Amino acid sequence: MSSIKDNLLRILDLINLVKIKNNINYDVNLMAVSKTFSSSDVAEAMEAGQTLFGENRVLEAYDKFNLPIIKEKKHSLHIIGHLQRNKVKEAIEIAEMIQSIDKIDTLDVIEKKCSEKNKKMDFLIEVNTSFEMQKYGVLVEDFDKLLEQITKKDYKFCNLRGIMTVGPLTDDKVIIKKSFKLLNDIFIKIRQQIKKTDFDIISMGMSSDFEIAISEGSNLVRIGSAIFGKR
Ligand SMILES: *Cc1c(COP(=O)(O)O)cnc(C)c1O
Repeated sequence: MSSIKDNLLRILDLINLVKIKNNINYDVNLMAVSKTFSSSDVAEAMEAGQTLFGENRVLEAYDKFNLPIIKEKKHSLHIIGHLQRNKVKEAIEIAEMIQSIDKIDTLDVIEKKCSEKNKKMDFLIEVNTSFEMQKYGVLVEDFDKLLEQITKKDYKFCNLRGIMTVGPLTDDKVIIKKSFKLLNDIFIKIRQQIKKTDFDIISMGMSSDFEIAISEGSNLVRIGSAIFGKR
């Protein structure tokens, strides 16, 4: 079995290859998705130089990332799974970004909790680009409405940084590509529309489809099993 460090190096190489093949000259960031894996696995990835991590479940992440061996090392953590309102308090303590916003209600709760703590929170809107093969994310036809609600609220603590999607659950590369292209089309359109200079993150691609995602414009790939092993 190859080590976490070997896996990280191999994936960084692959990301570079796809960038070269597609003439991409901006950074494509690698997130290590550590859900279900232990704190010692996270520590090993940190030792190998990895700084950006993603977790799905807030309480699991809270326990793992509050351990001294993890907490004292330089890192940032994003919540990438569905966020329940009753977990917002813990989420904002450990995370720098919530990637999975698909409802205005959740943002309202985050804004309130963040104002109490005087803490800023970056977030991404999760879009369901897979023609309802996925459970979460705002539907494409409802995206403009959600964005309008967000703009109207003029949050002081919640800061929109971009959009995210989970690709469709299929082996069909044509369908996967179509889903990622759809997110990129939305990203480009919104970036021009809202003229916000830090709206700059398009998060898509996982272990099985990150190469397609990068070729379709992703600048943040979220990789779990290809780094840490089978779950
Ligand atoms: C689990 C998960 C990933 C990573 O998936 P792998 O197939 O293990 O690479 C990425 N994004 C989200 C939202 C996830 O839940």
